[in-house]
Amino acid sequence: MDFAFAEHHDLLRKTVRDFARAEVAPHARAWDHEERFPHEIVPKLAALGLLGIRIPEELGGAGMDTVSYAICVEEIARVDGSLALTVASHNGLGTGHILAFGSDELKRRYLPKAASGEQLAAWALTEPGSGSDSAGLRTTARREGGDWILNGTKMFITQGSVGGFCVVLARTNPEVARHKGITAFVVDHGTPGFTASKHLEKLGCRSSDTVELTLEDVRIPDSQRVGEVDHGFTDTMRILDRGRVSIAAMALGLGNGALEMALAYAKDRKQFQKPIADFQAIQWMLADMKTQLDAASLLTYRAAWLADQGRPYSQEASMAKLFASEAASRACNRSLQIHGGYGYTREFAVERHLRDAKICEIGEGTSEVQRIIIAKHLLTR
Ligand SMILES: Cc1cc2nc3c(=O)[nH]c(=O)nc-3n(C[C@H](O)[C@H](O)[C@H](O)COP(=O)(O)OP(=O)(O)OC[C@H]3O[C@@H](n4cnc5c(N)ncnc54)[C@H](O)[C@@H]3O)c2cc1C
Repeated sequence: MDFAFAEHHDLLRKTVRDFARAEVAPHARAWDHEERFPHEIVPKLAALGLLGIRIPEELGGAGMDTVSYAICVEEIARVDGSLALTVASHNGLGTGHILAFGSDELKRRYLPKAASGEQLAAWALTEPGSGSDSAGLRTTARREGGDWILNGTKMFITQGSVGGFCVVLARTNPEVARHKGITAFVVDHGTPGFTASKHLEKLGCRSSDTVELTLEDVRIPDSQRVGEVDHGFTDTMRILDRGRVSIAAMALGLGNGALEMALAYAKDRKQFQKPIADFQAIQWMLADMKTQLDAASLLTYRAAWLADQGRPYSQEASMAKLFASEAASRACNRSLQIHGGYGYTREFAVERHLRDAKICEIGEGTSEVQRIIIAKHLLTR
């Protein structure tokens, strides 16, 4: 591997870190407490290019690479997991699917609005009965003349109610093997028959919008189809590869944020007439956190770099997500331990980081699913 951050990557990291500290950190606790999607931050994210990270400049985006995408998500997650999840999913899933597989017409129609923040993107694969077994989805799309009629229910959809459009995966051919008969479509918010439930109450990432979506005889023209008919599942696997890099980056940010808090607290808090940082038990926890998060960082940026080189990175993305998400949960848990009883209160952000980090072990494929993917690569190579 030949990866090193370029000067523009370092500059981007500093810019996003400064932005997150100034504009996000002061409000993250309140947004979480109120379980409110922070609409007011959307124009500021757009102004920095954070809503069109990989969208080409001619379509209004920032035209950045996957390493930059990971940097942006990591730096926001240092202070707010909810907003990092919004940025990761908007860029990687909803707009990412149109960018990678949409027609020129769809790209021109949706990507400039996504990059400017006029419309946030959602992406709907999961259903009440199909999560890990995503090829088992039951939403259908049936052809009627030049249109498609969609019916079904989607579960846990990020930006499902605040988004302007949603890429929906639906079964178009029940006659073939399950993963071979699925197609993607873009559905505009407000299309008759397309409704969002109320915001789901969650353990963490509480200011990120998560809803159930219902599609009842939703009629859309064939021009809203993303990619080839019956090719949606294969395309989805490619979308999830890059998405997993961003979830690994989100985990890294949350873990490193928790480490920073632990360091500051351990130097400040005194027991037995000395800072708790002087105790070896605390030092070992800090050392383990740093070592595991640095290993996670190497895995994450290797996968991002491979993606940018156009080289295979599916296994590497799964390894990065698996390791980084579990390292982040451990780091947040240890940081809370270092904070003692105060860490257990809402006065300190570490409890929010611990709650937010858990989703990284579940979303875009659970840790168990990542192990299945890694093993499959090992056994078939
Ligand atoms: C906050 C949040 C945001 C989300 N955002 C989106 C979104 O925007 N779009 C979207 O489409 N989805 C989204 N999801 C859905 C997410 O991707 C799924 O929750 C996840 O893939 C797991 O599916 P499930 O919840 O149905 O769990 P299940 O698949 O039912 O899994 C339950 C348990 O069984 C284990 N398991 C399942 N199969 C196996 C197996 N073969 N071997 C071993 N263990 C197994 C799992 O690892 C897990 O521990 C979101 C979820 C959450 C919570």
